[in-house]
Amino acid sequence: MIQVGINGYGTIGKRVADAVVAQPDMELVGVAKTRPNHEAETAVENGYPLYYAVDERRDLFDEAGIDVAGPVEELVEASDVVVDACPSGIGEQNSEMYAAHDTPALYQGGEDAGFVDASFNARANFSEVEGADHVRVVSCNTTGLSRLLAPLQEEYGVEKARVTLVRRGGDPAQSGRGPINDILPNPVTLPSHHGPDVNTIFPELNIDTLGMKVPATLMHTHSVNVQLEDVPSEAEVKELLAGEDRLFLIPPEYDIDGAGKLKEFAMDRGRPRADIWENAVWEKSISMEDDDLYLFQAIHQESDVVPENVDAVRAVLGESDREASMARTDEALGVGF
Ligand code: NAD
Repeated sequence: MIQVGINGYGTIGKRVADAVVAQPDMELVGVAKTRPNHEAETAVENGYPLYYAVDERRDLFDEAGIDVAGPVEELVEASDVVVDACPSGIGEQNSEMYAAHDTPALYQGGEDAGFVDASFNARANFSEVEGADHVRVVSCNTTGLSRLLAPLQEEYGVEKARVTLVRRGGDPAQSGRGPINDILPNPVTLPSHHGPDVNTIFPELNIDTLGMKVPATLMHTHSVNVQLEDVPSEAEVKELLAGEDRLFLIPPEYDIDGAGKLKEFAMDRGRPRADIWENAVWEKSISMEDDDLYLFQAIHQESDVVPENVDAVRAVLGESDREASMARTDEALGVGF
């Protein structure tokens, strides 16, 4: 059994912890937190050993009546792989600790791509991270784009991708984020960081991205245009994308017009936290105009990277190939509607 530790137990960390527990070949060693709060209480409720991440704050757990298993260094030492899901920039600070314990670490998309050995997307470059010590699982948006672009690139070749990312202002629990009544070009200059980030996965890909931020919390929405080298029919593109387990083609008859109904659908289907691990691509939007493919997709920022983190654990250890790992992850989680 692969021993996995999670350092940083917030939006991403708690989801990855649950996903690790669901895997038949993995065991959760524990999770590390900086302070007691409702998430720490839930970790204890779930039976997850809770480690403290900051020595000076250990007393806070005692005062809250929460038993701790030990300092984060013990978690790192006992783990075959650590998933660092700390806020952006903290992962890089933690990297020395992981190196000192000789424990490979997976970081999240908010970290700088420059300090890691490789960036990771399961569909696009699974085999490239085997043996790496520091691997970054790319952001929610880059994950969503990589999953879509990988089959298009393989099947038809991509001449150029142009994507406008309409991003949620913050996650539902991020009460301090905005905008609350505005529509922002963000950044106002080209490219947004997403294009260069996609190039950490597909170095040669020609891609331009524009970013916006809107007063929404549920999901991001991408307006995608991909100019293809070989020109398929719309039906062929739909068949190709429908064959990808982590792409959900929203059937027109579902009458899902946006993120609100998508989340409602996920709740109705009993998804934990109403998570949508797949890219949700509006089937009806898939259009070919000459050699240009157009479509809209929605990305659930809080959860699409979860299966990718699970696959990255196997990928760095060389425990599996891409198809087997993705299938195993997806089956254990219940990916695919
Ligand atoms: P979060 O704030 O919800 O969770 C981070 C957790 O780490 C918090 O519980 C925080 O208390 C804890 N923490 C802070 N400092 C720590 C330390 N030194 N040691 C251990 N724990 C510490 O953040 P998040 O949204 O889960 O984001 C984590 C990473 O995932 C970031 O790199 C982010 O860019 C990336 N990411 C976030 C999203 C998203 O939409 N939320 C999507 C994809 C990737």
